[in-house]
Amino acid sequence: MSDTKHKIIIAVDGFSSCGKSTFAKAIAARLGYIFIDTGAMYRAVTLYALEHGAIRSGMVDEEAVVRLLAEITITFRFNPDRGASDIYVNGNLVEGKIRTIEVSNCVSRVSAIPDVRSKLVAMQQEMGRRRGVVMDGRDIGTVVFPDAELKLFMTADPAVRAQRRYDELTAKGEQVSLEEIERNVRERDKADMSRTISPLRQADDAIVLDNSHMTVAEQMAWFMEKFEERLAQ
Ligand code: C5P
Repeated sequence: MSDTKHKIIIAVDGFSSCGKSTFAKAIAARLGYIFIDTGAMYRAVTLYALEHGAIRSGMVDEEAVVRLLAEITITFRFNPDRGASDIYVNGNLVEGKIRTIEVSNCVSRVSAIPDVRSKLVAMQQEMGRRRGVVMDGRDIGTVVFPDAELKLFMTADPAVRAQRRYDELTAKGEQVSLEEIERNVRERDKADMSRTISPLRQADDAIVLDNSHMTVAEQMAWFMEKFEERLAQ
């Protein structure tokens, strides 16, 4: 399985807050693959835009975001404590700042800007060039790696997803209400599915995983079966 000849690309797409990153990270650890969280990249650009005046009072100035894009360099560095890579913008660690509700409320508008997508998609394609990656996002199986050997499309009940995101944020001490989180989850789904460029949609050859009532261990057992089947083909 660790033979580079047989390393494949695993695309994990789906709705907001269905545990894509947790699951994709677990798969990567199990297979010895690299895990790439593409949502973190869109969040990092959004954070930078917020911090540099391109988003004011929730209004995204698209031209200003595009101007800032030229000065943004995104890098990942493996953090053994988390068992995953931390994200840096221009050398500054931003991992702890990109998952706030403020960033979540603006990220779908930033990610709909064509220049933002083309820059980040090119980076993602470069990161997966040698295969052996598990990449999670919205357009991995449709746009970034349409030739990915294994594509998952994850979904879960919106109320279950909101509860999970709420638990995650409150555990970190963020003051949020469950209603606000559920509204954000639903609005992001709608915005991500209806944007003109690379909308969130299930690739024709993706396998659906509804994990509303599944533990990570159950999801892993399900996944390993699909993975072995795919390698045997
Ligand atoms: O995965 P996560 O919820 O952190 O993603 C944050 C946002 O980034 C999504 O709501 C979506 O707008 C955007 N995104 C995207 N394409 C990806 C990954 C994320 O548009 N491949």
